[in-house]
Amino acid sequence: MRRPASEFRPFAPRARRTIVAILLTFALVSALSAALSIWTTGHSRHRATLLEVAARQRTLAERYVAEVELVRNGQQADPGRTAALLASSARALLDGGTAPAVAGDDDETALSAVTDPQARAQLMQEQRLVTDLSKTGRALLAKRSVSSVPLTAHERIAATDPVQRVRVLAALTSNVALNAARTIAQQTDRNITSSIRLQVALGIGGLAVSLLLAWALIATTRRQTSLFRSLVTSSTDLVLVFGRGGCRYVSQSVVSMLGRPEAELHGSGFDRFVHEDDRTALEAARETGKPRELVLRVRNASGQWRHLEAHLTDLRTDRDVHGVVLNARDISERVALEQELTRQAQRDSFGSQLTEALEMADEEEATYDIVERAMVEVSPVSPMELLLSDSSRANLERSAVSVAGAPGCPVQSPFSCVAVRRGSPVVFESSEALNACPKLRDRPSGPCSAVCVPVSFMGRSLGVLHATGPEGEPLDSQQVAQLTTLATQAGARIGTVRAFERTQLQASTDSLTGLVNRRMLERQLRGLLRQGRPFALAVADLDRFKQLNDKHGHEAGDRALRMFAHIARSSLRDEDTVARWGGEEFMFAFPDLDRHQATSVLERVRANLAESMSGDHPVFTASFGVTDSTRGETLDELVRLADIGLYAAKEAGRDRITISETLPDGPGLTVVSEKPPDADDKQRPHRARPAFHEAANEDDPHVSGLEIR
Ligand code: GH3
Ligand code: MG
Ligand code: MG
Repeated sequence: MRRPASEFRPFAPRARRTIVAILLTFALVSALSAALSIWTTGHSRHRATLLEVAARQRTLAERYVAEVELVRNGQQADPGRTAALLASSARALLDGGTAPAVAGDDDETALSAVTDPQARAQLMQEQRLVTDLSKTGRALLAKRSVSSVPLTAHERIAATDPVQRVRVLAALTSNVALNAARTIAQQTDRNITSSIRLQVALGIGGLAVSLLLAWALIATTRRQTSLFRSLVTSSTDLVLVFGRGGCRYVSQSVVSMLGRPEAELHGSGFDRFVHEDDRTALEAARETGKPRELVLRVRNASGQWRHLEAHLTDLRTDRDVHGVVLNARDISERVALEQELTRQAQRDSFGSQLTEALEMADEEEATYDIVERAMVEVSPVSPMELLLSDSSRANLERSAVSVAGAPGCPVQSPFSCVAVRRGSPVVFESSEALNACPKLRDRPSGPCSAVCVPVSFMGRSLGVLHATGPEGEPLDSQQVAQLTTLATQAGARIGTVRAFERTQLQASTDSLTGLVNRRMLERQLRGLLRQGRPFALAVADLDRFKQLNDKHGHEAGDRALRMFAHIARSSLRDEDTVARWGGEEFMFAFPDLDRHQATSVLERVRANLAESMSGDHPVFTASFGVTDSTRGETLDELVRLADIGLYAAKEAGRDRITISETLPDGPGLTVVSEKPPDADDKQRPHRARPAFHEAANEDDPHVSGLEIR
């Protein structure tokens, strides 16, 4: 099956193939050289044999002549046999076969056929000359005419003497045989020379191919080495080797991860960046090679702690390594994610518990209790407070304080708070920093860090959740997130409770005048008392209202009540309240005002009432009794005080305001206004012209009463 081209095989056995190719080349070249050597040696031996047999032809030819002469001289000889030897030797030289043994000379000799054409032609000529020689010799011995013997070799022989003719033929035969032998020898020499050249060429070629293959092998090995190196160095896996003297090797990825030079990490250098709590485990691991898996924290150059998950390989006995190898991965992101998930779970749990707790709070005060308990959950040691705006949304009040105490932020109004303005949590590392909130400076507890989280409901700011801590150590992100949850949920609950209370307030509104009723005002006054917030209180009663009713009818009386309610309401500040207390009696609440300041406001009510007395309306006036929260402890006491003032005003002639200072059974006096309305004004609607009379007590900068004319 074909391997896909894209498959990545960093360690393909190319080197192995190259080595096999080199070995094959050597084997082939060696085999060829050996074959050539064998062939050359064979040919050398063959040449020697050939030369021997060819040289022997000369001897045989000479022997033949000598034997013919012996026979002619009557002596015993066998030239026919010698001729046969000459003929069979000539045949063997030409076509191969066995050259016969020659007695007293040598043994039978195996010859192979001559292939060279020149040598073949010469040997064929020799064969013919042997035939001519033996035929001429036989004719001489038979005493026939020698010159009539046909010469197949077509040699021209000038000698006419028969013996001489035989001798010439024998000499020719031996010459031609020797020539053929020389030709064969030369041919063999040429073959041997080419064979040697071929061997040299083969050797050079083999060497060149081997060098090429060796070069390819080196290149492949280099490539694989550099590939391996680049794999190791560019790998995100962190590789460290620890030996006797500490860290012996760190991969490039370790250098990059720590952001420190490699040399700084060698020896005991790496240990300096390992978390103190993890050093013992690391030391044990490189001493023993165990455990196989290890988690380490190391600090990089930017001061961040990175979490490493390391796998240990004990190669202390490996002669190339001599150490413990750590293959590690940076798992910081995973750890951070796990931690974030845990924190998220904690936040979710905190959020859901808070939701359940707040669901049970049906009043603002109950919400504050829960906020205080939740603050302890976030941090039991950091001072925290919840600053909430009042109904006017102008002033911030401290509504909840954690067990660790109140940080004591002096911010007055929501929009003086930077967190409220930004609409998001703000963390200050140090109150001394240039960009710190100015309200953090010069606190009695000294420099601090702070977290401020705005509290809002349906986009409307309600206040701020404020926490402080040691300078430079603000609450962590998890705690800030929890405070944000607390601010969001508490804001939602407080907003809901307030909205509900407003609804209740509306439901408790007096239907004739549209003012709040007595119950609601009592609740508000009790709240002011609980907060310790100062306020003034006044009760008003329409003068001789029974008469008005009687004279103009009940309807006119109702209109007069509505008119008074409207004038009173529109004469007050937003934060003041006027309620229908019952019948034709009204109660006023003036937060943050004292009885004298409240008198000024009521004076405005009287003036506006007097100005409205025109047209068809029946003319009427009202009397007022005023006091403030510094004059009594409880609401009942204060109401009684105001009533006493009212009573005094009625007694003094009505249409006036009387300040009530103390209860009759307490120390001091009840001071009332003394002057009746101006006699000139008696017949027309009263036009109030307030005039202060001298203070009863010289040390008291406030007026102690006033006169209405
Ligand atoms: P004084 O100056 O001393 O207060 O004299 P007065 O006539 O106002 O006396 P008093 O305060 O006792 O009179 C209360 C009268 O107010 C009795 C009642 O007829 C009248 N009144 C009470 N509630 C209403 C109401 O809702 N509508 C009308 N039209 N009259 C009411
Ligand atoms: Mg009355
Ligand atoms: Mg009255």
